[in-house]
Amino acid sequence: MKAYRAILIKLPKDKCDVDYIKRLMALTNLAYRGFEVWVPDLPKEIQHHLYGSFKNFKDSLAFGTKPKGWFARAWVPLKTFRIYQNGSRKSGRYAPVVFDFKNNIIKLYQVCRNGRGYVIEVPMPKWVVDRIKEGGDVKFAMIGLKNDKPYLALTAEREVEPYQPSGYILAIDINSWSHGIAWGLLRSGRIVSFKQEGLNPQRIVSLYNQAVKREKKVGRLKRLGLSDTISARRTKRMARRLRSRIYRLINEEATFMAGKLVKKALRYKAKVVIDDVDWESLRGLLTRKYGGKVGKLLLSGLKRFVKLLVTQLQWYSVPYEFRRLYSKKCPRCGHSLTQVEGRVMVCGNCGFKAPRDMVPMYWATKLFEIMKK
Ligand SMILES: [Zn+2]
Repeated sequence: MKAYRAILIKLPKDKCDVDYIKRLMALTNLAYRGFEVWVPDLPKEIQHHLYGSFKNFKDSLAFGTKPKGWFARAWVPLKTFRIYQNGSRKSGRYAPVVFDFKNNIIKLYQVCRNGRGYVIEVPMPKWVVDRIKEGGDVKFAMIGLKNDKPYLALTAEREVEPYQPSGYILAIDINSWSHGIAWGLLRSGRIVSFKQEGLNPQRIVSLYNQAVKREKKVGRLKRLGLSDTISARRTKRMARRLRSRIYRLINEEATFMAGKLVKKALRYKAKVVIDDVDWESLRGLLTRKYGGKVGKLLLSGLKRFVKLLVTQLQWYSVPYEFRRLYSKKCPRCGHSLTQVEGRVMVCGNCGFKAPRDMVPMYWATKLFEIMKK
């Protein structure tokens, strides 16, 4: 089985010609559709690359699917040439992207600007070095624009074989009260450790309110014809900064939690069980609690967390599965639970009793019974 991980690298704007990249993207779209359009003023090597070798690897899982619309911008797939520290090399004759691990740089030939032999160098990201150390290889790259800014997308590939779980289960609950994420380490049907962590929604709410307050002020000044004053511009800048801080916070938290939990799973050679959350009802819950806009932000953070988590679990060949981990349904008899004082859930049918946030972990312990069979 093959596993993939990808990363985006910002390219220096002053060394890239956005219009040139746009043209390459348009040609790529056509190539996906089976058309060869030879343009006289573009380097021949790139066009050969697009119509020759591209055919062989465009369907690789490393890339997205065929662009939906005729004029949709398609990222330009590029072969890579790897020169390793020990001097060994990988790839065929011509590749527009060269990874030079001896000098720790990536060289890009003729894909950033139209010109014979035009080459730019970017520093080798640590991400690439780490993936290679783990036994991966970066066979493919793509160049393209995101918000009209040039980026290089790298895809690492690795052959994996899931390990035999040791008897530990790491259960991950996405729908945890006030924190977003809760995890429990389980063994032989018992909860060994449990923790709730992750994003603090109150912090997001507060940053969001601050941003909205400033945006309202900008609106007021605009109506008064004062939108060009120093104060208006400063307020606008502040609002923008607050917004991007929210995105950054959510992103960082998702990345941190995914990394941490994957490491934990590897340390215990655990099987990972992820709450197969009902996103629609979670959206409703978050919207009711924090309002539509903030709810949406928190939801996107949780979705991103799950996506990162799964990609990394696959990459490190950790066995995992999705399973509904309920918090209002009795794990022993399936009866619905009632909440009593102190956020404790009680089953009126069989007498099961547990703190509300732990109930999903009890659902996960049921897996041991299944595993025994
Ligand atoms: Zn019960």
